[in-house]
Amino acid sequence: MSQENSRLEYRIGYSRDIHRLGLNRKLMLAGVHIPYPFGEIAHSDGDVIYHALAESILGALALGDLGTHFPDNDPDTENMDSALIVRYVVKLMKEAHYKVNNVDIFVSLESPKLKDYMGQMKYNISFELDIPYDRVSIKAGTNEGVGPVGEKLAVEATSTIMLKSID
Ligand SMILES: [Zn+2]
Repeated sequence: MSQENSRLEYRIGYSRDIHRLGLNRKLMLAGVHIPYPFGEIAHSDGDVIYHALAESILGALALGDLGTHFPDNDPDTENMDSALIVRYVVKLMKEAHYKVNNVDIFVSLESPKLKDYMGQMKYNISFELDIPYDRVSIKAGTNEGVGPVGEKLAVEATSTIMLKSID
């Protein structure tokens, strides 16, 4: 193999997702069902962290947005477990000969507090991405009472991810 082909390559990806919150919907964050009277209103299970995460991988690979791969009018994806979306994108990543180096998530939510669920959320992401636990960062914050997140009408997440080529 030539030196050109074997050179390690890094690709960065970013995405954000937002969903409205509705009464009697499940609040799903990184595969964890968080007890709360309100949850994401969405075609799938609405897991904003998994959606931002999956789309950031697509971004790193320049493979378009999540809506192109999972149209929100597709009956097959109704109430879909968003872990399946992450697995689909991870498969595309492996086919492109990349793996995840590390990921940094930010979730914006006025309430409830997420600290009791952080360990499980990070574990789920490290499992889905097949990377060590200490390569997953999740930060959470409120929106200080302003905007749709601050008014408890929505939950938002961003994901920044670094991929590394494999041979
Ligand atoms: Zn979404």
